[in-house]
Amino acid sequence: LRKRIIRAEKMEAVSHLAASISHEVRNPLTAARGFMQLLEQGQLSAEKRKQYVQIAIEELDRAEAIITDYLTFAKPAPESVEKLNVKTEIERVIDLLRPFANMNSVEFQTLLAPFNVKGEREKFQQCLINIIKNAIEAMPNGGTLQIYVSIENGRVLIRVSDTGIGMTKEQMERLGEPYFTTKGIKGTGLGMMVVYRIIESMNGTIHITSEVNKGTEVSIYLPLAQSWKNTIANEQEKVFAT
Ligand code: ADP
Ligand code: MG
Repeated sequence: LRKRIIRAEKMEAVSHLAASISHEVRNPLTAARGFMQLLEQGQLSAEKRKQYVQIAIEELDRAEAIITDYLTFAKPAPESVEKLNVKTEIERVIDLLRPFANMNSVEFQTLLAPFNVKGEREKFQQCLINIIKNAIEAMPNGGTLQIYVSIENGRVLIRVSDTGIGMTKEQMERLGEPYFTTKGIKGTGLGMMVVYRIIESMNGTIHITSEVNKGTEVSIYLPLAQSWKNTIANEQEKVFAT
């Protein structure tokens, strides 16, 4: 019974996420449309026109940021849970974010191992994007972004560390709270909430440490998906043990 309840909660979390996206994107789009309509009416001073155009652009940027935090890889069809190679998935996300990292003079250093985990590919990539993007944004004057994969206590560990601005204790406590952002109009405060939900749905955990002006370390622990070789090895062990 306990298991079933947990599953139901997860399903709810996922459908709630889908419902909130359309709501989140619609608000800034409606605002942008409203200001465009005002512009259409003429008799506006040049100053007002400029101001309304600026607001409309900001609202469209906000819609874009929300889509980036939620839907970078989303496909219309529902996803299925499959075996994912963490090295392959991390490499794909690095390729996608490399231009953004270059713009910020951020250098990637990676030590990746090809362990398998189970999950929905696009959600897992979305989660990596949100964490890596935060790390890059924490280093506006450049820095090093390290991504390290290993096995710890039988679980896959993915560690993303940056040499950025870090977080205070208060900021750490609010991390993952919807709309908590220190990035003003450029932030959505939705990225980490999405990360927590996705990792939870993959039966994983997150551990974060941070120091102001030193940097932040995000460690994700996920169950190791057994490959058929592991399964055979385990079965043989059982046979020998009896
Ligand atoms: P957003 O990036 O839109 O602000 P997030 O949910 O992704 O929203 O992050 C929330 C807040 O957590 C950020 O505004 C920032 O203050 C803090 N944060 C997250 N990751 C890091 C990091 N690697 N370094 C410093 N601060 C971070
Ligand atoms: Mg973010």
